[in-house]
Amino acid sequence: MYDYDLLVVGSANADLVIGVERRPGAGETVLGSDLAVHPGGKGANQAVAAARLGARTALLARVGDDGHGRLLLESQRAAGVDTVGVLVGGAPTGVALITVDPSGDNSIVVSPGANGRLTPGDVRAATSLFHASRVVSTQLEIPLETVVEVVRNLAPGSRFVLNPSPPRPLPAEVLAACDPLIVNEHEAKVILGEACVSDRPEDWAGLLLAKGPRSVVVTLGAEGSLVASSPTDVTRVASVKVDAVDTTGAGDAFTAALAFRLGAGASLADAAAYASRVGAVAVTRQGAQDSFPTAREVEAL
Ligand code: ATP
Repeated sequence: MYDYDLLVVGSANADLVIGVERRPGAGETVLGSDLAVHPGGKGANQAVAAARLGARTALLARVGDDGHGRLLLESQRAAGVDTVGVLVGGAPTGVALITVDPSGDNSIVVSPGANGRLTPGDVRAATSLFHASRVVSTQLEIPLETVVEVVRNLAPGSRFVLNPSPPRPLPAEVLAACDPLIVNEHEAKVILGEACVSDRPEDWAGLLLAKGPRSVVVTLGAEGSLVASSPTDVTRVASVKVDAVDTTGAGDAFTAALAFRLGAGASLADAAAYASRVGAVAVTRQGAQDSFPTAREVEAL
């Protein structure tokens, strides 16, 4: 009945990475390594992660009419994502300028570029994609009014998954549509604001549910995650023990895998258990999109 298991609406960035001995202070110039350019952005990452697991995936995003935009389109297509919804032009492709020092600490400047020009009108023009998709997921690297329009364009019977990253307070209309809202500790605290009256993730799940989402997932890195459909039904999902080398993109892989499994009919706890395995494989490899596993690699874990 549905053409797509997952429609991802979100950002696509070129990540420009330079290794440095130490990061420069104000007015200072330092020499760094050769430049590495990687496809990134939370929307593009989620779409690649889902497609690699075998989900029929479409991406609704905007890139610039430039080399970075072409790199992003190529990486989506190589992973098997349908790019019919990727709009081109209006501003340069979004870019993240990343410097990494030998200890692994980084400094990042993001130019949203074309991501900031993905408009509510672009969402309305993609109604057929929404009707063809079982699950729709998004993040907050696109304008908030565009996220609101995503919620208003959901087809009857489809499911909405939101990872509010980078976090900001959300309108009740958006929160009420989330099934689930997926947050890490920092995102939970920003969304809860003054309502965050506890240090226990179990309590955050209940407090977040009181804000309207139908279900909540709290990710806790190596500690696994919590899933909750009601304040009295909070379940801890264990992580898989692995030697982590790079956690970049783990949250995106987790979210995409969870959305895919929910669409296939899994319970929230089962979908989170599968997503934990996907996240665990991703952290054992360098990079974001490069680290995302296939379904076979997840089974082999
Ligand atoms: P990101 O850094 O991409 O923003 P995030 O903070 O949103 O990530 P995390 O909680 O770090 O998300 O990771 C998502 C999931 O990936 C975790 O719930 C867990 O299942 C898995 N995961 C992350 N780090 C590890 C780890 N070191 N070992 C095992 N599993 C991990």
